[in-house]
Amino acid sequence: MGEASDKRPKIDVDECTGCGLCIDVCEQEVLDLNDDIAVISKMDSCIGCGDCAEECPVESITME
Ligand code: SF4
Ligand code: SF4
Repeated sequence: MGEASDKRPKIDVDECTGCGLCIDVCEQEVLDLNDDIAVISKMDSCIGCGDCAEECPVESITME
């Protein structure tokens, strides 16, 4: 797992294919699927590790 940080994921909904890999990799269960698009459902639980962004095959998650 990546190191915790103050950054948080931002999802480009136009690029997301709904594959769900980011949801599976997030140990904090921050992410969810809504209408086949990844959404941030529990941002308060995010530790900023960046694993979701690294896992996304279409690079639709950026850490900001
Ligand atoms: S940065 Fe880490 S904790 Fe936050 S949503 Fe992504 S995988 Fe989950
Ligand atoms: S890994 Fe990327 S493409 Fe797949 S659901 Fe997550 S944001 Fe969307």
